[in-house]
Amino acid sequence: MEAAVTISSRGAERLRSGHPWIYRSDVRDAGQAAAGDVVRLLDRSGRFHGKAHYSAASQIALRLLTAADEPVDAAFFRRRLERARELRDRVVSDTNAYRLVYGEADELPALIVDRYAGWLSIQALSQGMDRARPLLLELLREMYVARGIIERNDARVRELEALPLESRVAAGECPEVVEVEMNGLRLGVRLGSGQKTGAFLDQRENYAAAERYARGQALDCFTYAGGFALHLARRCASVEAVDSSAEAIAAARDNAARNSLSNITFIEANAFDLLKSCDEQRRSFDMVVLDPPAFAKTRGHLDAALRGYKEINLRAMRLLKAGGVLVTCSCSHHVSEADFLEVVASAALDARRRALVLERRTQARDHPIALTIPETLYLKCFILLMG
Ligand code: SAH
Repeated sequence: MEAAVTISSRGAERLRSGHPWIYRSDVRDAGQAAAGDVVRLLDRSGRFHGKAHYSAASQIALRLLTAADEPVDAAFFRRRLERARELRDRVVSDTNAYRLVYGEADELPALIVDRYAGWLSIQALSQGMDRARPLLLELLREMYVARGIIERNDARVRELEALPLESRVAAGECPEVVEVEMNGLRLGVRLGSGQKTGAFLDQRENYAAAERYARGQALDCFTYAGGFALHLARRCASVEAVDSSAEAIAAARDNAARNSLSNITFIEANAFDLLKSCDEQRRSFDMVVLDPPAFAKTRGHLDAALRGYKEINLRAMRLLKAGGVLVTCSCSHHVSEADFLEVVASAALDARRRALVLERRTQARDHPIALTIPETLYLKCFILLMG
């Protein structure tokens, strides 16, 4: 029998509102629960509220696995993984690189599994999921004919769970660069060392959306491995792609070559400086993409983050021709869609430009948003027509 943890009425209320996290301040009695255990959740009157993973370190003490009184065993995880797969079968096309499991949204809290062609990349981001790794690996090997499974447990959030940061090939083999297909493009991905689990899979549908408006001269700021730039290059006369990381620029160049695209100029530079100097030189573009890293890593950085978004959006708008299109993104969890829209609107006012929202977008559907879990929505992407 699993250990029982008593939660406060506020904790129970949170579960009832459809949110799977219970903070430590709402744990009344952790009883015999140890790090990474599956525990039974009870309120003070002894009523059962479900089963959760217990963390002995994080402020998120409990992550709900199920509201039912059912065994949390191999069959349980298999059902969850199969349901996650069914959703992807319905919403993913035009790629062999996508997110198979998106944590809380798939009721597999703190678990990420990404597919890159014949390889799987997995991240276990809580003590409970970390302990379940051998079982999860076995299930994934049964369910998928994978050439290799990589564990990217080097994400910094594991520090909050007092878990070690490590990256390893857990099954099969893994070449340094794996080639995947996306929207008809070939992309090389470094599964062992790339950012996130190797690529920004969440932008896949936004790449295709941006491409539909692309023409003339485009500027892709924060290009990483060239995701937006490559898509735009298929329609534009020329694309300039900027990133401050030499490694990212090298990967982006390699991707352009893989697709025989020769109309992209890659620039290793600080995007803030580059936008400023384009403005000083009175350059103009038909499309500008802004996809910066999360400026607000914590709530405390919110003000500085909003200033950062304002600055790049203002500068980008000044560079756009009348009739030009701005694709502007924010992946900061702490910046809401409303906050972001307000900043972009204030940039348009300062730039004295009229802007129309052509598309109001978010992360690709293989990163589903759970209606009662606001944290599952993090990527904001607006496509604006500049007057
Ligand atoms: N658009 C990319 C993802 C961008 S991630 C895609 O679709 O794949 C953010 C990128 O911004 C990273 O590659 C990082 O190296 C780069 N970056 C961070 N700070 C920067 C800065 N000040 N100037 C330019 N690039 C920066």
